[in-house]
Amino acid sequence: MTGSKPLIFRFAPSPNGRLHLGHARSALVNAARARASGGILLVRMEDIDRDRCRKDYETAILEDLSWLGISWATPVLRQSEHFARYRLMLQDLAERRLVYPCFCSRQDVTNAVAGLRDWSTDPDGVRHYPGTCRVMNARQRSERLAQGQAYSWRLDNARAIAAVGKALSFTELGPHGAARRVEAQPQLWGDVILGRKDVPASYHLAVVADDAFQGVTDVVRGEDLKAATHLHRLLQALFDLPTPSYFHHLNLVDALGRKLAKSHGAKSLSDWRTDGFGAADIRALALGSDPDRITGILPHKMASFP
Ligand code: GLU
Repeated sequence: MTGSKPLIFRFAPSPNGRLHLGHARSALVNAARARASGGILLVRMEDIDRDRCRKDYETAILEDLSWLGISWATPVLRQSEHFARYRLMLQDLAERRLVYPCFCSRQDVTNAVAGLRDWSTDPDGVRHYPGTCRVMNARQRSERLAQGQAYSWRLDNARAIAAVGKALSFTELGPHGAARRVEAQPQLWGDVILGRKDVPASYHLAVVADDAFQGVTDVVRGEDLKAATHLHRLLQALFDLPTPSYFHHLNLVDALGRKLAKSHGAKSLSDWRTDGFGAADIRALALGSDPDRITGILPHKMASFP
């Protein structure tokens, strides 16, 4: 605990499908760590994608969480309720010339880097944006804006790092209370999108804003998002926001070693239920045979969950 204030955790699913065992693991690790520290668990719907997110998925997610024995602080939070805040943050960055409008389509970017050998990639393996719209001259840019062409807002990564002007780091919590200072390397990401063409936010911007404004002290999520923390740390510094502690738990993987995902056909919790599995079975499957290693909690504290 920090002083007398409870730690604040969050489970942040995207309501664009049903939860699977990978989500169950993340939710259970959050709940277990909140419980072991006497903290609070928030549930935040990461629903900025207005085409793919649905209310019925949101309802189903909450039902699944209750069924797993997880309780959370009300109300349930929604990123779609904070677009005004994200827009202001983008405006602020635009005034500081730390973001620029980017008119490129995905295909434009692919074409631009297709012929370049050894072009650098971000931690997700996506080729870095080649800077086409960053180097566009002011007249061209104004013309396109005047024509009403759709654009996203991209971070000018190098300028942003220079604006912060100092080395950044964050705390990665390890199992059983071990903590490690990690030097942030936001340059790994290049000029990422912070405001999409369709909504005035992206995952990176919304998550950093919400974690800060919702008072999150402890971000617990899968290790696939560990690399994103390097960028999130830069965004926190740009807005002078507090930095939570991070705990990136091991992901559940399928037989091919891929992180469980809807797109790879991961079985939903409701299908497990239909097949006769109870909540205790799912908790055991999600946390595996060594739950205190996955949650990072000392075994005697873990024993009380749920
Ligand atoms: N919404 C993300 C997901 O469903 C989690 C984001 C986060 O925890 O920062 O994978």
